[in-house]
Amino acid sequence: MDQHTDARIDVLIAGGGIAGLALAVALRQGLGAPCSVMVADPALDRDVSDPRASAIVAAARRLFQAIGVWERVAEEAQPVLDMVVTDSALADAVRPIFLTFDGEAEEGEPFAHMVENGPLRSALLNAARTAGVTLRSAAVAGFRSDQDGIAVELGDGARVSAGRVSAGLLVAADGANSAIRRLAGIPLYGWSYGQSAISFTVAHERDHGGRAQEHFLPAGPFAILPLKGRRSSIVWTERDADAARILALPESDLHAELERRFGLELGDIEIVGPRGSFPVGRFVARDFVAERIALVGDAAHVIHPIAGQGLNMGLKDVAALAETVVDAMRLGLEPGAAGVLDRYQRWRRFDTAAMGTATDGLNRLFSNRSDGLRLVRDLGLGLVDRQPALKRLFIREAAGLTGDLPRLLRGEML
Ligand SMILES: Cc1cc2nc3c(=O)[nH]c(=O)nc-3n(C[C@H](O)[C@H](O)[C@H](O)COP(=O)(O)OP(=O)(O)OC[C@H]3O[C@@H](n4cnc5c(N)ncnc54)[C@H](O)[C@@H]3O)c2cc1C
Repeated sequence: MDQHTDARIDVLIAGGGIAGLALAVALRQGLGAPCSVMVADPALDRDVSDPRASAIVAAARRLFQAIGVWERVAEEAQPVLDMVVTDSALADAVRPIFLTFDGEAEEGEPFAHMVENGPLRSALLNAARTAGVTLRSAAVAGFRSDQDGIAVELGDGARVSAGRVSAGLLVAADGANSAIRRLAGIPLYGWSYGQSAISFTVAHERDHGGRAQEHFLPAGPFAILPLKGRRSSIVWTERDADAARILALPESDLHAELERRFGLELGDIEIVGPRGSFPVGRFVARDFVAERIALVGDAAHVIHPIAGQGLNMGLKDVAALAETVVDAMRLGLEPGAAGVLDRYQRWRRFDTAAMGTATDGLNRLFSNRSDGLRLVRDLGLGLVDRQPALKRLFIREAAGLTGDLPRLLRGEML
């Protein structure tokens, strides 16, 4: 290793988004001081405003509870008590409900909670500080790995070297455009849908009663997701060009477009807080690991927000990688040893492909204008709606409670 390299740390996490920070806290909680953890992200000391909120499913909530973060956001988390699905043309006066779910994953445990991304990330940052994670406001700009470890070059955005760090494992939690994935030469498979998801919060006159609504409209799904108080988070999918046009509309025109989709059920509405638009695609990395490197979260996979599962999948990566690394280090193994990374990859790669295929199918089935297809899918939804056992299975699957669950997703501490 280079003689200018700083003291060696065990795990360097590139990316202080929700996935990267959750992993940092989980590792420190599992192993304590003997495991040194650093999070490097150029945005750490910036106030990044995120207009989105996330549906945190039951399994992910158990993870946050096990790592002591849930108690920091619980007051701001809105349980999703039920969910309705409609399928209609934009101009239809009535939106018949084809599918309803009530929202319990287990008795007394809501299938999901809605939490705004801003407060969730702040809670994770505070928990990381408390847990003794080193936070570094810098980007990973390059690395060189060998059998002994990985030497990582940090940059501060202006191409000035911000120092080097030597680590046992480098985790790429650096999002959908992961520089680490690219630098490691890992191919990315997938496609863009040519759709963007507009997202913001609305305040409304009446109570939402904890109900989530998903309206399947010809341009794509339009979701109204309940937040604490008389507020909801909107995820509004449109073709790329239409999304840009809609966001550029004068305020009164934007309000009119919103109202056509939102409906009048919750009374007067008003957009509050920042707005944003996010490209929608489906991508998966060919490998989730490389020498001394593991990919988690959007760096490893991106799916359509239609089912609110992207981050939840990322948190499954976090739970599986944390458990793999904690178990290995307790046995005296290196966190980035090939066997450790293989175990992680075997655990996560298949599950990810399956979820990507399911959300892709949903989006293709619903984002189109064919009346024939609408009839068939509505028949299908109607049939599912009359099968309580099947609905229960869907709920458990969507709540992340099926399959070979890592301990954190069962709510157990590492
Ligand atoms: C409209 C919308 C709604 C959504 N709703 C839901 C939902 O309800 N439920 C759900 O589960 N998912 C949802 N998702 C998906 C979810 O938002 C993402 O999966 C999640 O934010 C990804 O988190 P992440 O930590 O992996 O990546 P990111 O949040 O992208 O974080 C990556 C971090 O890496 C940093 N970074 C970048 N490059 C470098 C570098 N070279 N070195 C160091 N750091 C770097 C960035 O600054 C950033 O902070 C939604 C997505 C959209 C678009």
